[in-house]
Amino acid sequence: MREFPERLTFRALRVQIAGLVGYERVIMKHLCSRAALAVALVSLSAPSLAQDTAAAAPTAPTAAQAEAFLKEAEDTLTREALDASRIAWVNATYITEDTDALAAASGARTTELGVRYALEAARYAQAPGLSAETRRKLDMLRAGLTLAAPTTPGSAAELSTISTDLQSRYGKGKGTLRGQPINGSDIEEAMGTERDPSLLKEMWTSWNDNVGAPMRQDYARMVDIANQGARELGFADTGAMWRSKYDMPADEFATMMDRLWGEVKPLYDALHCYARGKLSEKYGEAVQPAKGPIRADLLGNMWAQSWGNIYDIVAPQGAGDLGYDIGDQLKARGDDPVKMVKIGEGFYSSLGLKPLPQTFWDRSQIVKPRDREVVCHASAWDIDAKDDIRIKMCTKVNSEDFVTIHHELGHNYYQRAYQGQSYLHRDGANDGFHEAIGDFVALSITPDYLVKIGLLGADKVPPADKDIGLLLRQAMDKVAFLPFGLLVDKWRWGVFDGSIAPTGYQKAWDDLRLRYQGIVPPVARDESRFDAGGKYHIPGNTPYARYFLAHLLQFQFYEAACKDVGWKGPLHRCSFYGSPKVGAKLNAMLEMGASRPWQEALQQFTGSREISGKSINRYFAPLKTWLDGQNKGKMCGW
Ligand SMILES: [Zn+2]
Repeated sequence: MREFPERLTFRALRVQIAGLVGYERVIMKHLCSRAALAVALVSLSAPSLAQDTAAAAPTAPTAAQAEAFLKEAEDTLTREALDASRIAWVNATYITEDTDALAAASGARTTELGVRYALEAARYAQAPGLSAETRRKLDMLRAGLTLAAPTTPGSAAELSTISTDLQSRYGKGKGTLRGQPINGSDIEEAMGTERDPSLLKEMWTSWNDNVGAPMRQDYARMVDIANQGARELGFADTGAMWRSKYDMPADEFATMMDRLWGEVKPLYDALHCYARGKLSEKYGEAVQPAKGPIRADLLGNMWAQSWGNIYDIVAPQGAGDLGYDIGDQLKARGDDPVKMVKIGEGFYSSLGLKPLPQTFWDRSQIVKPRDREVVCHASAWDIDAKDDIRIKMCTKVNSEDFVTIHHELGHNYYQRAYQGQSYLHRDGANDGFHEAIGDFVALSITPDYLVKIGLLGADKVPPADKDIGLLLRQAMDKVAFLPFGLLVDKWRWGVFDGSIAPTGYQKAWDDLRLRYQGIVPPVARDESRFDAGGKYHIPGNTPYARYFLAHLLQFQFYEAACKDVGWKGPLHRCSFYGSPKVGAKLNAMLEMGASRPWQEALQQFTGSREISGKSINRYFAPLKTWLDGQNKGKMCGW
């Protein structure tokens, strides 16, 4: 199953959950324990903290007091984070009742701190004469929570109960297949492999009806409480709080997202038109008409957010098969998982980045231990904000994990690069950057790169006429995702600011899905449903705009690196392997962490201060031309 992670909302645990070319594998069982943890915490928050705050500050604070507060907060958080990371690591690599209990208690402590510091930061932010940097750090603390509990008695407990319950219900959620119950991770996998439209419809409908619909009332209540909390911290609503984390006014951020969507929409529309035609050929007009929107359950994914699972249905004749498989090549050479990680390290070393420390090899979990339960979900860890970086994977010798390794190591090299920053600055330039780095490097795993590292014979490099297959396979995940990446938070922003009322939750969701993705549910929906709740990040309260941004940023980074190495050919064939020049520039951006507005970090590496859809468009330009040819004479759009 492919899914994005919830990223830990509190900065103490610098766990970057991993993924596969931008897609994250989420194990539902794991989500449950995390969820429980994240919530237990909120309840500790409000009342006592409010009193502390009031008692400590009868008058407006001074700039000097604000700075002293920040120092104390960063020192404390640094200390707490070390313990919290170690506990989380032991828990994830040795799951028992005991380590679960330790992790829950540790999570409670760190979240309690997070709530307290957010409230205090809101107060200190009013001090006159703050330096720009102090103000920015106070804002980071103030907006550091995903859901803020208000200080009114009982509210924190209620918010905690509801949000724990929503996540737990999601984790335990089941749909049906042929009338039999099927859990979340199995149903996701089945949505990718099943080709019988009546069974797809059964799975889609049962999942959304069973999991989403019952959450509806509680979700509305949660929105009310969290908005009160956000207002206490000085935000208009929770959505505005989320949008405030991007070094620009919240409104401008929303405008930027719309502009970016406008840039990539023609590419998506062409892919939509082509995929719809292939689905209509396969399933017939009665199941998938050749015109209008696509039936949401036919795209190989419960949310129609990535379509790679149905590549076999859309693959162009003759150009669909690349003629080699990285996993087979690795096996033929006898490479084991550790060797695969060494190859990944080799990529970064070729850029001039210093090798991974010995502790990485001693402490990482590279293969699944035989004798205990672990969280297999790939992730990259920074334990001590110095040199103790690790990955945790259950690596298999296959192509997918080969790419995942490059992706994970991207997190590790980022973490190590910003270790010299202060606590609040030890993070990605914005939340899209951290995911984008690993994916940007993974884009460089081209056939020519594989030849350079001896994994592929020079005679096996696919000829240019296979490029369309290669690009289409990438686009089915990376382009298909874009409208979904945009609309999840469009819906939530509307819910939080009240422009989407609880009586219109389902309609607004369906309208956005139709407008942006061009898809329709396989059965009629009404306001007794709550399909948004059937997507983990809604009950899990994980902001989503970051994934949209990461999908564009990775191509911007890639294009900039390819320009630096003087690449002249088609963009998608470029690999910047072996370029210390790219490495030095990359490291300069990574070292900045979150110390400067993300626009400066972007400028450092790409020369531009703007996130843009132009690079992803250029990468897929040959595919776009090909798709336009295939779509000729068709009525595209919906
Ligand atoms: Zn990742």
